[in-house]
Amino acid sequence: SPPLPTVSAASLRFPSRSSRGRPTELFPPLPTAPAAATRLFSAAGGEAEAAGGDGAMLRHLARKLRASGPVTVAEYMREALTNPGQGYYTRRGGVGESGDFITSPEISQVFGELIGIWYISEWMAMGKPSTFQLVELGPGRGTLTEDILRVFQQLASVLSKCDVSVHLVEVSPKLSEIQAVMLTGGKVQPSPEDESAYMKGISKTGIPIFWYRDIQDVPPGYSFYLAHEFFDALPIHKFQRTEKGWREVLVDIDPEVPDQLRFVLSPSRTPATQNFIQPEETRDHVEVCPEAGVIVQRLASRIEKDGGAALVADYGHDGTKTDTFRGFRNHKLHDVLSAPGTADLTADVDFSYLRKMAQGKTATLGPIKQREFLKNMGIDLRLQVLLQNSGDTATREQLLHSYDMLMNPEKMGDCFNFFALLPHQRLAHPDKKDKPKSKSPLPPVAGFNELLLK
Ligand code: SAH
Repeated sequence: SPPLPTVSAASLRFPSRSSRGRPTELFPPLPTAPAAATRLFSAAGGEAEAAGGDGAMLRHLARKLRASGPVTVAEYMREALTNPGQGYYTRRGGVGESGDFITSPEISQVFGELIGIWYISEWMAMGKPSTFQLVELGPGRGTLTEDILRVFQQLASVLSKCDVSVHLVEVSPKLSEIQAVMLTGGKVQPSPEDESAYMKGISKTGIPIFWYRDIQDVPPGYSFYLAHEFFDALPIHKFQRTEKGWREVLVDIDPEVPDQLRFVLSPSRTPATQNFIQPEETRDHVEVCPEAGVIVQRLASRIEKDGGAALVADYGHDGTKTDTFRGFRNHKLHDVLSAPGTADLTADVDFSYLRKMAQGKTATLGPIKQREFLKNMGIDLRLQVLLQNSGDTATREQLLHSYDMLMNPEKMGDCFNFFALLPHQRLAHPDKKDKPKSKSPLPPVAGFNELLLK
């Protein structure tokens, strides 16, 4: 097949999110909220504010906090990121060079190509079903799907008898517009009210694309799911161990400084401390993302029922880290409590929690480091081919530079991880009794093992 186009110089940016410093493991001592502040969970309701411009979100939050007391970090994060009027993703969604942070698909096309190959290799290993949906959660600018669809196009002879459709779960109207331009050249139409999708179009390669606000709106069916830097944007609860037991970290208005926010501790236990802290927990500070848990449960149920697989890639840990809540603006670290709605807020993904929330409905693989996953997927060979096919020095330098970004343990190679949900039968050991003897053993899952395309 002909060489794929190479990454342009303009799309190379420093991965500010991944190059951030070591997270502080010690959370500072916090004041306790007055006991009267009891209406913790009714405060921020997610309604849009009419007022525009910077500072509107802060004024909106300050009003709420003054009226009803502190809110959980999860409520604060949800408001700041996805409030329908003033949320960061709703209004800005700053992925990319002119934005606030850069992601792997924006650094190199090779990233998305290798993920496209992962789906094809799983589709083949699962017996080439006659139809599948590619479902991406939080597609950003749409670059990753674009790169995957280019691979599907190049392997059209392999996929020729397969009916493929693309389903994007995106809350941000702003980003869905950017995705529509990227993937369809802007040829989209709003869906009628009675359809679950809010928008639809046809990709440049002729594949139907649908947009939804929630994973539950995506029709059932054999699906390959993808979540790249999606789970880290979902709201987290934060908890602090104290002498009196676990307390939840809340966001409150600072009584000393007008319109300034501060962290406080809940005066007593909250419903979340009861539900989310395990009795055997050994850390002193814990972050939990229940929304990620709910989504993983849904993915696992859907895969168990209809077949397919999910690939999750994000920075994160396996249940060991403590305070990882961070803000990013203009590719720099940003105080999470200042100017809400103008900065990206994010927390490391706890893969041990995701594994637990799959509840045994599917098998799980990983987390495995990005550099190991990409190496197993054949990134070195792909780089060699691209280098051989590129005539000019500048392009070759870019290729090497972006490879280094993705693979270097000091850059994105070690802190980003891949994690997969797969039907149990995909991993069933070949000599298990219930397996017909005539079938050849299942190939290992690519990425988590070396890629073998048969
Ligand atoms: N996957 C992309 C973008 C990551 S940014 C990349 O790697 O470049 C996070 C994405 O998730 C954005 O598209 C944002 O609008 C979307 N998002 C954030 N919260 C969401 C939610 N609750 N539901 C659906 N999409 C959400």
